[in-house]
Amino acid sequence: MSQGTINVAVENIFPLIKKFLYSDHEIFLRELISNATDATLKLKHLTSIGEANVTYGNPQIEIKIDKENKQLHIIDQGLGMTQEEVGKYINEIAFSGAEEFIEKYKDQNGKDAGIIGHFGLGFYSAFMVAEKVEIITKSYKDEPAAHWTCDGSPNYTLETSDKTDRGTEIILHIAEDSLEFLEEARINELLVKYNKFMPIPIKFGMRTETLPKPEDAKEEDKAPTVEVDNIINNPSPAWTKQPSELEDKDYKSFYRELYPMQFEEPLFHIHLNVDYPFNLTGILYFPKMTNDMNMQKDKIQLYQNQVFVTDNVEGIVPEFLTMLRGVIDSPDIPLNVSRSYLQADGAVKKISSYITRKVADKLKSLFNESREDFEKKWNDIKIVIEYGMLSEEKFFEKAQSFALYPTVDDTYFTFEELKEKIKAAQTDKDDKLVVLYASNKEEQHSYIEAAKEKGYEVLLLDSPIVSHLIQKLETTNENVSFVRVDGDHVDNLIKKEDTTISKLSEEEKETLKTYLTEVIPAAKFSVQLEAMDSSANPFMITEPEFMRRMKEMQQTGGGGMFGMGNMPDM
Ligand code: ADP
Ligand code: MG
Repeated sequence: MSQGTINVAVENIFPLIKKFLYSDHEIFLRELISNATDATLKLKHLTSIGEANVTYGNPQIEIKIDKENKQLHIIDQGLGMTQEEVGKYINEIAFSGAEEFIEKYKDQNGKDAGIIGHFGLGFYSAFMVAEKVEIITKSYKDEPAAHWTCDGSPNYTLETSDKTDRGTEIILHIAEDSLEFLEEARINELLVKYNKFMPIPIKFGMRTETLPKPEDAKEEDKAPTVEVDNIINNPSPAWTKQPSELEDKDYKSFYRELYPMQFEEPLFHIHLNVDYPFNLTGILYFPKMTNDMNMQKDKIQLYQNQVFVTDNVEGIVPEFLTMLRGVIDSPDIPLNVSRSYLQADGAVKKISSYITRKVADKLKSLFNESREDFEKKWNDIKIVIEYGMLSEEKFFEKAQSFALYPTVDDTYFTFEELKEKIKAAQTDKDDKLVVLYASNKEEQHSYIEAAKEKGYEVLLLDSPIVSHLIQKLETTNENVSFVRVDGDHVDNLIKKEDTTISKLSEEEKETLKTYLTEVIPAAKFSVQLEAMDSSANPFMITEPEFMRRMKEMQQTGGGGMFGMGNMPDM
């Protein structure tokens, strides 16, 4: 048996760890299970490259509560540690065995082994909840097992143990102020929160499984049951697979796995998968934004090598995309660091713009694949898109090809299409295109009808951020101005003559024009036939440009088209 003092510069690091290292005490379990997972994945890697001559099998990690002795056990069947290794990896705080492993095996795909740890501090988080911690561990190497004990002071003991099976058992003697971690429900909650998608099966107790009734069973016979290991995780969640392996229904069922309380189906998903210049996988879902009760609760979850880190993705995902759902998994996002640090981190910035680009690309391809479908979804996704257009310049540029502007009659235009559509009939005296819009169909009903009568297109822009969006569109399109349908400019729009395609024959036009010129004071006005794209208005009487200018000189404002009429009975 040996004794020693843990190698740290500070006299007693434990009070520090307890207070400052992690704000959340509950993450100790995540850290210990991560270490158990790492130990198992390391063994897998070593057997695969022929360095460990053992059978890998189907290793599990087990969590056991011993309420009577106030102990929590975390048991793995990973590579274990020799006494010497315990001395090296455990007694030196802030020396990460995980980093060392990756470095050592970097030429043999060590980086792809999926190792989680990298700060060399995770293990000590055990002391946030335990007054004493024991490690009983047997290496895959042919060496005696080790038993390490530490009561939270810098002093530890290290002796040999009679453990015969390979792997590590961590025993936490739970402190009086942390007895909640001896409750089954609490541990289960933590396992579901942090470990639900970790790569090695995690067993927590047993559960009863009902088997199918045998064929000769009578009606009243109960179905037979068996006791099976209660595995709390899905070791290969959808985002770890290739998009080509997955069908639409797999994405949908993964959505339900992520958000068991969510009954509304997502509108569509985006599979993220990149390994250069950073590593990131994930699946994002566009939920229906309307009528969603879980809007606030169900958020994007951030993972690192399948370990849940947080559902606060602020700083990692651009703000306008925080309304989405799903999973992002990246080992390149620094864990356990402050938000301000995150935002300044170069890799994180790249990740954020990658995600923005992928979302824009997906929207574009949905638009291209089926415009009709896209239009149907528009109401549910517009908030995200409009918000993105306002907050991210790159997204704004990309959105030009798929952002839609619906009219009050549910016709959807892109901005380019809209400009094309209105350029003949909706310009003002400065030759600017005038986009008419309504914000409320009911309240502005009579104005909308009047504008439609005149053959104008009226958009329905009713999202809460629409005034900002309009401002943005006006600054980026100098020749466009937005006018609300009940605004006073509406009557000042000019129609350019040369663009209308006639439905009347030349002869009919002549007759009509002769008639109209007779009945109105011809000198002051000019008559345009089929001026508008509206069956109600086959002609329009407009004021000639010189008349308008003259009037403008005499009075302020004015000008343009002022009257129109229905075709009189002929
Ligand atoms: P990190 O995981 O960042 O390396 P930790 O403080 O969590 O740092 O763990 C320190 C080291 O202790 C690990 O790198 C590993 O070498 C060793 N270790 C911890 N837990 C286990 C375990 N269950 N099995 C084998 N080795 C372990
Ligand atoms: Mg660790």
